[in-house]
Amino acid sequence: MINNKKLYKVAVGGFYLESNSFVGGETTLDDFKNQTFAEGSAISRNSAGSASEFAGAWDVLTQANCELIPTLIAYSSPRPPMTKEALDMITETILTAIPTDIDGVYLMLHGSAWAHHEDDPEGVLLTKIRQKIGPNKFIAISLDLHAYFTEQMLKAVDIVSAYKTCPHLDLYETGARSAEILVQALRGEVKPKTVMAIAPMITPPEHHDHNRAPFKTLMDATRKTQSGKVLIASLLATQPWLNVPELAWKAIITVDGDVEYGQKQAQELIDQAWVLRKEFLSVTAKPVAIAFEEALAMGTPTVIADMGDATNGGSLGDSTEVLRVALASKSSGSVAVSITEPSAVITSQSSIGQRVQLTLGSGEPGSYNERVLVYAKVIATANKKISYTHPAALDVVDDPGLSVLIEVEHPTIKIYIVLHSQPVRVIDPVIYELFDLKVNEIGVLQGKSHVSFIPGFARITPRYVLADTLGPTAANLPSLPFTKRMKPLYPFEDI
Ligand SMILES: [Zn+2]
Repeated sequence: MINNKKLYKVAVGGFYLESNSFVGGETTLDDFKNQTFAEGSAISRNSAGSASEFAGAWDVLTQANCELIPTLIAYSSPRPPMTKEALDMITETILTAIPTDIDGVYLMLHGSAWAHHEDDPEGVLLTKIRQKIGPNKFIAISLDLHAYFTEQMLKAVDIVSAYKTCPHLDLYETGARSAEILVQALRGEVKPKTVMAIAPMITPPEHHDHNRAPFKTLMDATRKTQSGKVLIASLLATQPWLNVPELAWKAIITVDGDVEYGQKQAQELIDQAWVLRKEFLSVTAKPVAIAFEEALAMGTPTVIADMGDATNGGSLGDSTEVLRVALASKSSGSVAVSITEPSAVITSQSSIGQRVQLTLGSGEPGSYNERVLVYAKVIATANKKISYTHPAALDVVDDPGLSVLIEVEHPTIKIYIVLHSQPVRVIDPVIYELFDLKVNEIGVLQGKSHVSFIPGFARITPRYVLADTLGPTAANLPSLPFTKRMKPLYPFEDI
């Protein structure tokens, strides 16, 4: 018998931002609108990217004959804290679009949005949704494993699914899993409850790599935990650059009914992370000058990962540290770096083919974005969006704004700089390809993340060096001004 009647009404949407508390500036509504922003009927399966959690959930829900009520997709690359206006608009739009006769809600969240006036934007949103739809409807979410998951979020949701890979490659599966359990719950096949266990630790992301111990050990354990009554097991390593009170590693278990069993499983999982905490602090990154020379010698091309200026962790992309090391080097070769520098873009945009003098960076001597004077030839300008080729951000669009390619004068090294107006992720080579730079022929390419750049640059090179640079995403966490964190917290207190 063919029955075309939709079985369940499910509201779907996404609010995706990883903030960094330690950078200046704010993420505005326009920043979202310049990236990925769609409301209501303008939302489709691929609105957040064809390999996204949202696409995964969309497929599962439509195959289960659910009627989807699209609310809002507001997706940003990692950015500074968001404005109150942006947060209020996003919260209200999602809330208003959810009808009261809904059967369930699925939201794709990063889990680490932050605003100066609000430590827990997702917690507030989920609490308001719960208040609107009542206690008996299901709320399912998906998260990045670097989410800041709070008690408030825990109280509001039924189903939680987070990535089990880093670099993050299982976005689609993560959204699909959350939606699968939602469908099972709607059918009355399971009674999902979510529980949490906490370890008072935060760690820099360098070792959050599922291909290598210690993180591999933990991700394998998480997968093993997810069986039988444990419908979904997630281990949140959290992102460490948020100045918030509940920041810590967490194990989150969505269990079928048996809360006590789920709690025991969560505790066992987080205990394994706690035992390995010291291994996450063994930084293998090199001082930047050494890292740069090594990268030059390793073969063309090699990525130098600028950890302190990881736009993938919310830095502004305005560091001059790698550039300054290249300027001081006496070796030969070629390098391409990317710098967010709107004022230099304006100064140089109309000087194509000419020699210009530019001041890059605005910081004091010794800071990550220390001011530096360069003489350069302006090669080209561009004003178009980029579309990431990274496997986990495939087709995701970002906006560098007006951009200029310059070649800096140096006796032995060809130094190319892509100057752009807005921060972009440098987890794959697309910012360099914006200008048709032949990335395969450049000796050293600056990447801006701790781990994610590895699969993103893999299409051109497997070689990389980690540079232990300064900045808002530094691996050295005690170097940052945390004021709200829990105490004790490893590694601040050696517990
Ligand atoms: Zn992440």
